[in-house]
Amino acid sequence: MNALEKYLSKLISAQGPLPLSRFMAEALGHPNYGYYMSQTPFGEKGDFITAPEISQTFGEMIGLWQAGNWLNMGSPNKVHLAELGPGRGTLMQDALRAMKIVPGLLDAVEIHLVEMSPRLRQQQQENLSEFKPPLWHDQVSDLLKAAKDAPLLLIANEFFDALPIRQFEKGRQGWHERLVGLSPEAELALCLAPVPCSLSLIPEALHAAKSGTVVEICPLGETIVTELSCHIRDNGGAALLIDYGHSRHGSGDTLQAMKNHHYYSVFKNVGEADLTAHVNFQVLKEITLKNGAKVHGPATQGDFLHAIGIGSRTQSLLKTARDDQKEIILTAYQRLTEDKHMGQLFKAMAIVNPELENIIGFES
Ligand code: SAH
Repeated sequence: MNALEKYLSKLISAQGPLPLSRFMAEALGHPNYGYYMSQTPFGEKGDFITAPEISQTFGEMIGLWQAGNWLNMGSPNKVHLAELGPGRGTLMQDALRAMKIVPGLLDAVEIHLVEMSPRLRQQQQENLSEFKPPLWHDQVSDLLKAAKDAPLLLIANEFFDALPIRQFEKGRQGWHERLVGLSPEAELALCLAPVPCSLSLIPEALHAAKSGTVVEICPLGETIVTELSCHIRDNGGAALLIDYGHSRHGSGDTLQAMKNHHYYSVFKNVGEADLTAHVNFQVLKEITLKNGAKVHGPATQGDFLHAIGIGSRTQSLLKTARDDQKEIILTAYQRLTEDKHMGQLFKAMAIVNPELENIIGFES
């Protein structure tokens, strides 16, 4: 048992089984042993590769998307440009480089990063050293408090899938929360809460699901989108959320661990593997609309990137590339956009101020 597993076992022995959300929050964010606090997540040598690490074109397209929104707002002389969970800072770096082509934009932006990991903050600082120094925040609510004097342009790529989820399983008497307890061998293991939960926690569309069905909710994700949509409604701006997930309410256990680019056991070497769950975009869309902001999408990542122009950007990179680079550029483009790679499973959804028009990248 590693140090984090020992800590969790003690906690369970003292207080009883934990909701999965508590387990996930500790596995990813424990100040000493949490995955994002202690490991090297990204890249070939890390555990997984995210879209901005595959190709510079990803961050460039997002930068251009937000640049278009700034122009459509009438080029305000101050705007907050924020990213949630910036990883190594690659996306923000590529986005800012692309934004340089719009006169006045880089002078107008104040850069904000919401990041819980001191190690990753360090990498972000290094990778963004050529731009204005960013302001870091621990939580989204801190960012929103600091960003009330100008519109907000926000980006979140693979952030919501890292937020802690709760799971419930349908039994004969109702929905029982899936908890993390201890097996007879004293190892961390799933168990069910003996008493059913309140039905109000389960999306209505799934109330009649058959026995054994598993449903997930992400309370922190819902809170963040509530705060974000109210903020954008009141202060102006646009947020782009990109993540893997489903556009409609769905059921099933999507919690997964990833280590060295392979699926891994959720309860093995806790804190040493990445943990994620699919994002339910339907819930986030309903919350946004209820709070009076506008939604575009979700669109598939492939459709979204094509609509902004990743095809022609890739063509222009190919024109100046050496022969050995051409293959890399083409493969990266395919990984980002093709259905059999990230193009279909990943979705883009925008939360925008109702007065902001001519949003690109989405059909509706
Ligand atoms: N957006 C990056 C990294 C995705 S990984 C990319 O696409 O490459 C998730 C990121 O979110 C990491 O930077 C992680 O440290 C951060 N993160 C996860 N949960 C967080 C939380 N609750 N608060 C702040 N940052 C968080």
